[in-house]
Amino acid sequence: MRAMLGAKFCPFGTVSRETPPPRPTYPALGSRMLAPDLAVEFAIQPIRGVRLQSRRAENAPGKEKWVSRILCVANQKGGVGKTTTAINLAVALAKSGKRTLLVDLDPQCNATTGLGHEPTGSHPLVSRQPLKDSLRTAEISKLEILPGSRSFKDIEILAGGELSQTATLSQHLASGLSAYDFVLIDCPPSLGQLTKTALASSTEVLMPIQCEYFAMEGLAQMIEVIRGVMERRPNRLRFGGIVLTMYDHSLELTREVDEEVRDFFGEIVYKTVIPRDVAVSEAPSHGRSVIDYAPRARGARAYVELCMEVLNSE
Ligand code: ADP
Ligand code: MG
Repeated sequence: MRAMLGAKFCPFGTVSRETPPPRPTYPALGSRMLAPDLAVEFAIQPIRGVRLQSRRAENAPGKEKWVSRILCVANQKGGVGKTTTAINLAVALAKSGKRTLLVDLDPQCNATTGLGHEPTGSHPLVSRQPLKDSLRTAEISKLEILPGSRSFKDIEILAGGELSQTATLSQHLASGLSAYDFVLIDCPPSLGQLTKTALASSTEVLMPIQCEYFAMEGLAQMIEVIRGVMERRPNRLRFGGIVLTMYDHSLELTREVDEEVRDFFGEIVYKTVIPRDVAVSEAPSHGRSVIDYAPRARGARAYVELCMEVLNSE
């Protein structure tokens, strides 16, 4: 098991046989998989002290109910399954009869192209035009898309993460999101202005975590940013959930990450895990969700299950 923990993770599911480097341990945490920065964060402020509200807490009597559930799909790491989760969960929600909007806020525009659409030249967040002028209808009924734009890069540079800019941008974004049951915002792999704007416009954070070595690396910073938004907008944003992606039941490493993440985050981790499945990665090249491309694939079934869990967590 120790050898596995030290081994290099290969995206194709095999584990290198090189001698593993010595693994640092964090005795205070009793944890082996936590990245150092998260370990430090944990040591300074125990996770129970961090206001990571659970779904159960939100259902407590007297809590305000939001008309739209706006899920910010965020993780500052790239390649963890944010876009894949945003696309497939949006499609599953729309197919379950919920009016759904998929907002692509990544300059790479993968959520847009992954559903067969072209990125937009001038984005309403940049031009400040009403959002409704840029909406596109997806093939699936009840699903609309606010396409991404490469001009987002200007926002990252010009607005530079300033609070006043975040407030202006998020107000503009939020103004177009109230007509839906669910809005999913696909964030770029950074903690820049776009992710901050998305967080400030959202009601919950959905964070995909890839089952790999150092899965939680950098999360301390992410939690700090989420906490900052929560403090500025109390009772608005909650940490809605974590979903484990690219799960491979045959790998001990996957099971180790699963155990660590659940130990650390507790009940906010969704029970459904998304398996590593080639159909999931093939689907975007056909401009479709895996649910439409290969409905019987394990990945498609998992996203439908996740959708049920999200619906039941209201
Ligand atoms: P992010 O948006 O966080 O950068 P993506 O959703 O683009 O991550 O996923 C990164 C890569 O991994 C993509 O090539 C995607 O097709 C692939 N991928 C994502 N989820 C799965 C999965 N469950 N099984 C197989 N490949 C996946
Ligand atoms: Mg992405």
